[in-house]
Amino acid sequence: MTNALWQPQAHMPSVLAGDRLMIVSGEGANVTTDDGRVLLDATAGLWHANIGHGRPELAEAAAAQMRTLETYHTFGRIVNDQALALADRLEAMSPIANPKIFFVSGGSDAIDTAAKLSRRYWQHLGQTNKRIIISRQSAYHGLHAFGTSLAGISFNREGYGSESLIPETARVPANDADALAAEIDRLGPDRVAAFFAEPIIGTGGVILPAPGYLQRVEEICHEYDVLFVADEVITGFGRTGAMFATELFDLHPDMVVMAKGITSGYAPLGGLLIAPSVWEPFFDSPDSPIFRHGVTYSGHATACAVAQANLDVIESENLVAHVKELEPELVRAMEQVAKHPSVAEVRTGIGLLAGVNLIPEVSADLITRVCLESGVLLRPLPDNTIQISPPFVIEPGALWRIAGAIAVALDHPELQERSGPGPALDHVDDDA
Ligand code: PLP
Repeated sequence: MTNALWQPQAHMPSVLAGDRLMIVSGEGANVTTDDGRVLLDATAGLWHANIGHGRPELAEAAAAQMRTLETYHTFGRIVNDQALALADRLEAMSPIANPKIFFVSGGSDAIDTAAKLSRRYWQHLGQTNKRIIISRQSAYHGLHAFGTSLAGISFNREGYGSESLIPETARVPANDADALAAEIDRLGPDRVAAFFAEPIIGTGGVILPAPGYLQRVEEICHEYDVLFVADEVITGFGRTGAMFATELFDLHPDMVVMAKGITSGYAPLGGLLIAPSVWEPFFDSPDSPIFRHGVTYSGHATACAVAQANLDVIESENLVAHVKELEPELVRAMEQVAKHPSVAEVRTGIGLLAGVNLIPEVSADLITRVCLESGVLLRPLPDNTIQISPPFVIEPGALWRIAGAIAVALDHPELQERSGPGPALDHVDDDA
């Protein structure tokens, strides 16, 4: 029986008709399929496998913690030692001074938490109309109810019967700071709770911030008394060549959203770094309210122990500095791709991230399928862009292999037959 699973973001009739790729093991920057093919994991899965696959030290950390205590919850006055220890470590490495840390199970959970806390904060301060959350076109903030409502990728927000699954959200163009100010003016600053932004838009197409954009939107948020939330689910823990993009761009957000790279995917964990301005009203007096939020696995002890082991690897192997070293190599490798007439734009230059945006006549989905035949596993993003975000442990030569596979695929005979003038090739919308 292999047909029971309903896969996320999948067209199940195609999957059950055989359009399925099964991964069964991994080591370093490679994964292996059920039929024994070794593939170069050019995306680190869903941008998560930062330290690479198959690390025994993480398996051992998980096993040791499970033998001691799988987990214990952290609701109310109860806590476990692993959640406390990881929070202290994150406090010490946080790009926000003197933060508090709230743990959940993943990125979508963390977005829900940040959205609820944004609204709860203003309610507590008596600014009860400040409820609208603004996000960017092309944004991806996960697929829970708030993430769906904040989505800047239209197919992720449609089909639920209203314009926004959770009411009181708005979107602005991705790289236009003036548009944010204009939207806050239009809505009324007294109605806007927060602005959420990925420092580098990931799933929406690897869209780098325009020079000065992030600094300017931060200023606008301060001018209008709107919370600024940096979604670092992809960029956090080294992907940009800095531990956090918040440091790289010298930002001062009210909250930083974390997931993926916090454990490199070895256990599900997400969380928030929360600035004093936001946490103080919940901590500073006997009358402070309880933030009525959390999940059974907030501060899951095994996930936290795995996160510690992951951070140990990142630090002891200097992987963030290594990403910075590989950054120009990736740029150079992608130059050959950028010259191809089927490529509209290559978006790269920050850390181990690149997006190859293709002209509409050439399908990113088809190109990734051709690359797979040469052993390179890539992903098409919704705007006809190919995602490149390999594990940090990738060899420099393998970056050239990725670029080479794309360049060869763009000249593939099947593509020449199927593309050219006429309608754009079908491509499967796939994202996370
Ligand atoms: N935010 C961003 C920027 C993401 O890229 C993702 C996942 O890709 C999420 C939030 C949601 O994280 P998760 O899939 O762990 O719920």
